[in-house]
Amino acid sequence: LPADYRPTGQLLSDRIILVTGAGDGIGRSAALSFAQYGATVVLLGRTLHKLESVYDEIEAGGGPQPAIYPLNFEGAAEKDYRDMCDTLDREFGRLDGILHNAGELGDRMPLRDYAADTWSRLMQVNATAPFMLTQALIPLLERSESASLIFTGSSVGRQGRAYWGAYAASKAAQENLMETLADELENTRIRCNSINPGATRTAMRAAAYPAEDPTTLLSPEQIMPLYLYLMGDDSKEITGRRFNAQ
Ligand code: NDP
Repeated sequence: LPADYRPTGQLLSDRIILVTGAGDGIGRSAALSFAQYGATVVLLGRTLHKLESVYDEIEAGGGPQPAIYPLNFEGAAEKDYRDMCDTLDREFGRLDGILHNAGELGDRMPLRDYAADTWSRLMQVNATAPFMLTQALIPLLERSESASLIFTGSSVGRQGRAYWGAYAASKAAQENLMETLADELENTRIRCNSINPGATRTAMRAAAYPAEDPTTLLSPEQIMPLYLYLMGDDSKEITGRRFNAQ
C-alpha cells in the first residue's frame, strides 16, 4: 500500500461488492467503507439483525441502497450458492468484488484435545465456504470490467502456532486458495489478493485474547485504507499477493 494512500470519493462508484461476515467487526466496517466510496454492497452474514443495522447505517449515510443476503456458512451447500448466484444475477446481472471476511475462531487448545467436529466446522466456514462461494459466482464476476477478490488470512495461517488448531490451518488454506485462483485467472479481468488484518479491536480478537486491553489495538476503521486500495482500481495490476494491514 502506498504510504499516505487516499482513495478518491468515486473509487467504488457503480460497483457491486459482496462482503461476507458484514454484520460485525472488520466486515461491518468494510461494508460501510465500500458504500461510502460509492459501492452497492451485498451484506452477507448469519445474524439478520446485525445485517439490518449495517443496512440502516448505510442508508442513513446516504450510500447506495445495499442488499441483505442471510446465509450461515456452517450448513450451506452447493445449491445455496447456486441460488445466491441466481438471485444476484437477477438483481444486478454481475458482480465486481467479493470480500471473503467471515470467519470463526473455534477453540484455542492443544491439537491432542481438539474436537474433530470443531475442526470440520472451522474448515467448512473458513476455507470451504470461500471456495464454494467463489466458484458459484465466477460467472457473475466474469461480467465485470474489473473484479477484485479479497481473502482474509492471519499470522497463524502463515506460520502455525500452539493452540490455534483448525483456525490456523483453515486460514493457511484460504490464502493458498487465493494464490491458486489468482494463478488460474491470471489473464482475466478478475484478480485475487489476501489481507492479514493484524490485531484488530473486534469480538473475535477479544475472545482470543480476553486479558488484552482492547484500547491498545487499532479499530477496524483504521485498517480500511488497504481494503479500499485492493478493492478498487488503484491496485488494478496487483494479483496473487498476501498483504498485511498493519
Ligand atoms: P468477528 O467475529 O467480529 O466477525 C466475524 C464475522 O463473520 C461476523 O459477522 C460473523 O457473524 C461472521 N461469521 C462467522 N461465522 C459465520 C458463518 N458460519 N456464516 C456466516 N457468517 C459467519 O471477527 P473479525 O471482524 O475480527 O474478523 C474478520 C476476519 O478477519 C476473520 O476472517 C478473522 O479470522 C480475520 N482476522 C481477524 C483478526 C483480528 O484481530 N480481529 C486478526 C487476523 C485475522 P455473526 O455476527 O453472526 O457472528
